[in-house]
Amino acid sequence: MDLFNVYPLVNITPVKALGATLWDENGQEYLDFYGGHAVISIGHSHPHYVRRISEQLSQIGFYSNSVQIPIQAQLARKLGEVSGYPEYSLFLCNSGAEANENALKLASFHTGKKHVIAFKGAFHGRTSGAVAATDNAKIVAPFNAGHGISFVGYDLAEVERVMQSEAVCAVIIEPIQGVGGILRPSDVFLQGLAALCKTHSVVLIADEVQSGYGRSGRFFAHQHAGIQPDIISVAKGMGNGFPIGGILISPELKASYGLLGTTFGGNHLACAAALAVLEVIEQENLIAHADELGGYLRAELEANTGAQEIRGRGLMVGIKYNFPIKDLRDRLLTEHHIFVGNASDPTVLRLLPPLNITKADVDRFLAALYRTLPPSPLSAGEGARGN
Ligand code: PMP
Repeated sequence: MDLFNVYPLVNITPVKALGATLWDENGQEYLDFYGGHAVISIGHSHPHYVRRISEQLSQIGFYSNSVQIPIQAQLARKLGEVSGYPEYSLFLCNSGAEANENALKLASFHTGKKHVIAFKGAFHGRTSGAVAATDNAKIVAPFNAGHGISFVGYDLAEVERVMQSEAVCAVIIEPIQGVGGILRPSDVFLQGLAALCKTHSVVLIADEVQSGYGRSGRFFAHQHAGIQPDIISVAKGMGNGFPIGGILISPELKASYGLLGTTFGGNHLACAAALAVLEVIEQENLIAHADELGGYLRAELEANTGAQEIRGRGLMVGIKYNFPIKDLRDRLLTEHHIFVGNASDPTVLRLLPPLNITKADVDRFLAALYRTLPPSPLSAGEGARGN
């Protein structure tokens, strides 16, 4: 039987992981600067996380959503507290795409409209509605009008024109684009976008699947801009590898029972994993840590690489070169045993390490990078800051 799940970019088989370290079957050690694609938030196999999940499994791992599941309420309370959204409701599902799918569905039912504004370079998942809202959409799915608007040009006038001319139910935006290459709309753009959504009664969906859970140095990346989306999608770092996703829903939106539903979503085990993540984020002060260490990493990169641009916030970092990064990425892995990520832009190296990496880990990465690609004296210090 052929397998479609794995599309190996590298011929390495990790068999063990702890913190920011992975080991392959031969015992070779690797530094994880990719976090399994922004999924590993509190580090691999964190003892508190392992304990919480194990204890939960020894009690009850799953029963259908037709019964009372108090750990869901516990998770919702904790998430409300840590994220700064205590008044929002939480719907739990299993992945980022499923979260966005439900966000789009909710927006459409709430407004009675069907068109969605999404942005160039966006990635929202691989289910049909989410793909339709994704920039490189290859299929035509029911939800989208296909309005790919570039926020890089801060084109709010274009957004408003589409809102006025079409039956738009939602704007979906990654407050920092991940797959697209760590591209960040300005805070002013996000504020303008939120205001336009209010004026035209369009639901604003912040897809925080990659940028959320402390990665940007705030719990949510949109919080840097001081806006309040109507729906916030979460997944990836939420479960630190355990499949769980969700949407936070503003009290102004009506989410009726039956409209949102799933068999596995919010199961006991997933909730135990997600609670453990929030507890560790809080106990270990990981958001401030991500902010501080990310600041250090980006400052070092700006001063010492010949890169065109250093992008991102916190520990969501993109290094834009003027050449494809495939060789660099391969050499970091094979010569220095460091995992880093790529992006849909082949010239961007993407860094998404666990939030609890140490300064020594960052220095090890920087030394490996400079050894692989010696800083160019001509461009040193010229790296522009991502907008
Ligand atoms: N939204 C964003 C911003 C993402 O980065 C991703 C995954 N790369 C998704 C949605 C889809 O998440 P999942 O793979 O869990 O469906």
